[in-house]
Amino acid sequence: MTGLDSAQDVVVIGGGVTGAGLARDLALRGVSVLLLEGGDWAAGTSGASSWMIHGGPRYLEYDWDTTRQSCEDAGHIVRIARHLIHRCVFLLPVLPGDKLGIERLETAMEVYDRFQPLKDSHPHVRLSGAEARLLEPGLSPRVVAAVTMEEWGVDPHRLAWANVLDAVRAGARALNHSRVEALLRDGATVIGVRYRSADGQRVEARAKAVVNAAGPWAPEVAAMAAAAVSLRPAKGVHIVYDRRLSNFAISAEAVDGREVVLVPHGPITLLGTTDDDYYGDLEALEVLPDEVDYLVQAAERTFPDIRRHRPARATAGVRPTLFQWRPNEDRLSRRFEVFDHEKSDGVPGLFTIAGGKLSMYRLMAEVTADAVCSRLGIEAGCATAERPLPGAGGLAQQPHELAADHGISALAAARLLKRHGSEASEVLEDDRRGRLVCRCEALTEAELAYSARREQVRTLADAFRRVGLAAGPCAGTACVDRAAQVIGEQLGWNQSQRRDACREYLVGAWRCRAPVLDRWGWAQEELAYGARRGWPGGH
Ligand SMILES: Cc1cc2nc3c(=O)[nH]c(=O)nc-3n(C[C@H](O)[C@H](O)[C@H](O)COP(=O)(O)OP(=O)(O)OC[C@H]3O[C@@H](n4cnc5c(N)ncnc54)[C@H](O)[C@@H]3O)c2cc1C
Repeated sequence: MTGLDSAQDVVVIGGGVTGAGLARDLALRGVSVLLLEGGDWAAGTSGASSWMIHGGPRYLEYDWDTTRQSCEDAGHIVRIARHLIHRCVFLLPVLPGDKLGIERLETAMEVYDRFQPLKDSHPHVRLSGAEARLLEPGLSPRVVAAVTMEEWGVDPHRLAWANVLDAVRAGARALNHSRVEALLRDGATVIGVRYRSADGQRVEARAKAVVNAAGPWAPEVAAMAAAAVSLRPAKGVHIVYDRRLSNFAISAEAVDGREVVLVPHGPITLLGTTDDDYYGDLEALEVLPDEVDYLVQAAERTFPDIRRHRPARATAGVRPTLFQWRPNEDRLSRRFEVFDHEKSDGVPGLFTIAGGKLSMYRLMAEVTADAVCSRLGIEAGCATAERPLPGAGGLAQQPHELAADHGISALAAARLLKRHGSEASEVLEDDRRGRLVCRCEALTEAELAYSARREQVRTLADAFRRVGLAAGPCAGTACVDRAAQVIGEQLGWNQSQRRDACREYLVGAWRCRAPVLDRWGWAQEELAYGARRGWPGGH
């Protein structure tokens, strides 16, 4: 049986950073919005990105507008998401025989410096090889010079969630684990969607306009109304290390001359990315051993110790790049486009936002909301450039103050502040359990319970994204049972549901880890598996 939902002005399909940003923008203009995400917030491309809010200096050569727009919008994002972002200082080392020598590299940086003030970043500094190694002792002795470059880092899962939360506070409804299965039509016109809700019900929701913000899935969603969106999807892989490997982010030239980067983000490090045309199934993205080798080989050239570090997992995502014939993947424009399918396909009521970057999601949302509002005759303007996201307004406490007030460790307080900013103490006022869920990740039981109660966490994988559950070295082996108990108490799981939740999480985590295991890694897997089976209640 199909249920009937209330009608709204706009349904947004897709809860990556673009759809979340769009729902927020529309809701703040007073538009009634339903945001539907088939999986979890930012579990698609957004979560699998390099976590950078940047301008992309390499686009300067062939995609100047993207660099400028990214820098401008990054400036807004940095201001509205202050607690979620961190400065990322890059070292761009030069080795003998590199594509660019130090003079050409520095000239390029001088041009990029002109954009840096737009996002509150500093100009570059030129370093000798010795100076660079003093700052970053792990650099290869072959490095002859380097320049610095400043960008910003962000956890895209929290960024997307903050947008969802603000949309909800402004009156939107937002449902994760709710996949759109069909677009409702009246003749050619799209008049709503049919989705399967988190509890398995089929529900119809009517709307004056439907916006397809499904990232790489956008062509599939548009096809539900016989409309067309042409993408040139490109797969990108990262290796994730469960610790900081370097003081700075470091760039390296891969064997094919492309650039890869090793970037510390808080307690973890990302090494990526590959960039390859992808024609496969979006639901069956796999990380291949060749892709892992390609990245490690590139990083090793500037950071020789990389092979001594044990990767924790790998991620894969697909860039929703607009279609272009001919350029190699890394030369494709990152521009974005809003499709009004009434104009392009004779399908009124349907819009698609495609292309672009995380670094300009807010601008993409603004331009899309302008198009939708103009069609619906709504005049309210955009408020997202100035209004802080939840947690970014008001004064946040210092970690030691929060720790003392609530009897938790300073590290746990720092992590809590990073995720919740000025709203951190509310998490602990709700629930005073300061005990850590895991010995390798400073996550309190109170925050985990809060994420299930107030942040739409429905699975252990949702908790990984929302609050970093099992992001540390144990990868869940030591903490999923306790986590399932804490979350299960909030969501009313029985014993068997808790066991199923653990099994599902561990299998998923293993799939992300398997591509990066060497023979010692496999031996450890065996040990962990055996230990788990041996535990009382192990499975
Ligand atoms: C490897 C890699 C690294 C990158 N690094 C950066 C970076 O550092 N900085 C940067 O600016 N950009 C980066 N990008 C680009 C950036 O990540 C993307 O442009 C951006 O995240 C796309 O967001 P999105 O919301 O459009 O798509 P997504 O995040 O993929 O969101 C689309 C959502 O739609 C949902 N969906 C699909 N079908 C349905 C349906 N039928 N019903 C309901 N929901 C549905 C999906 O589940 C998904 O969550 C990177 C991209 C890749 C692949």
